[in-house]
Amino acid sequence: GAVSDYGVRDPFKLMEVAGYLGVETKDEEGERRPVNEIARDVALAALNEFGKIEGEVLNLKRAPAKRQQIWHDLGIAPRAIDREVVELLHRTHIGNDQDAEHILDQTMRCALGDGWGGSMLGTDLSDILFGTPSPVRSEANLGVLSEDKVNIVVHGHEPTLSEMIVAAAMDPEILEYAKSKGAKGIQLAGICCTANETLMRQGVPLAGNFLQQELAILTGAVEAMVVDIQCIFQGLVPLAEQYHTELITTSPKVKIEGATHIEFEESRALEIAKEIIRRAIDLFPKRGETTIPDIRSPLIPGFSHEYIDYALGGFYRGSLRPLNDAIMTGRIRGVVANIGCNNARVRHDELFHYVVTEFLKNDILVVETGCGAIASAKQGFMTPEAAMEYA
Ligand code: SF4
Repeated sequence: GAVSDYGVRDPFKLMEVAGYLGVETKDEEGERRPVNEIARDVALAALNEFGKIEGEVLNLKRAPAKRQQIWHDLGIAPRAIDREVVELLHRTHIGNDQDAEHILDQTMRCALGDGWGGSMLGTDLSDILFGTPSPVRSEANLGVLSEDKVNIVVHGHEPTLSEMIVAAAMDPEILEYAKSKGAKGIQLAGICCTANETLMRQGVPLAGNFLQQELAILTGAVEAMVVDIQCIFQGLVPLAEQYHTELITTSPKVKIEGATHIEFEESRALEIAKEIIRRAIDLFPKRGETTIPDIRSPLIPGFSHEYIDYALGGFYRGSLRPLNDAIMTGRIRGVVANIGCNNARVRHDELFHYVVTEFLKNDILVVETGCGAIASAKQGFMTPEAAMEYA
């Protein structure tokens, strides 16, 4: 392809996803097609899922047959990802759908399109490009920022640039440049969902979640905050202006007045990542007084579906059977997903803390992502020891 900085890191996952999307992995002679050709067809099939005009979201077939039947019986099986979003917007504009239950049906169809379509595809493609997560050690909370290294915080939701920043930060030339400016190295840290992406694949520590983005800058120790899309506070620019921090927007969809805009282009990904890191390094000598809270918690993230399968059954006999058995015998009473955002109307992370503690106390496994996961990480819930303490 035209983009040389990215490759297929997980060809097994590529083959699996090709199957879900109806992409042939073998040629007419029964030989495996070249990986890059399969990757291209998977990418095109994935793009087609967003705006196709016939059929329904292909990933629905990955749900249990009973569940698929329920969606079909209720008429809420999504047809295409964008289509359901646009239809929901249409219905809820003035003078359209005025029956609460009918609107709710479309809300569910849109949610299924977003989840089983967009989110699942996003995860699959990220795994193919950047590797399927497996457990890594890391740390969470503002204490991960460094007193003597250049601190770069990646913030937002997309892994494409942040993965390149991780790669660029390990470049010996870049590290030498940091040393030439008096820093001992480069410390990356994440905020929000971009943080989870770089955490679970690369072990990049978490600086915090949504309501901590300003606090990170308030430490006075952040040279650059690099943002992509979503959940970026408008107040970051005036706040960064009080410090030496540069706020850098990178998405063609998001510009913020007063921020530096360095637009991300996949074809120059590594080059742009290095440019951003060099700018941050240049700011290090301007750092003033810092207040980094001495607080951080260890965590072990990276329990992808594939890893759990492997952990429970091994390479040849991967299976969720031990988990099912434990649920059937009542040793584990179920699995819940705790996913989502912070809310400034309640004490920070308090609700996540409460519900996750109760789930653990009641022998319920908790699968987490989003800012809820970061809340639990800071709480120390994401370690094996937490099971002993709370369950
Ligand atoms: S979990 Fe919610 S608040 Fe947190 S980064 Fe994602 S979308 Fe934003």
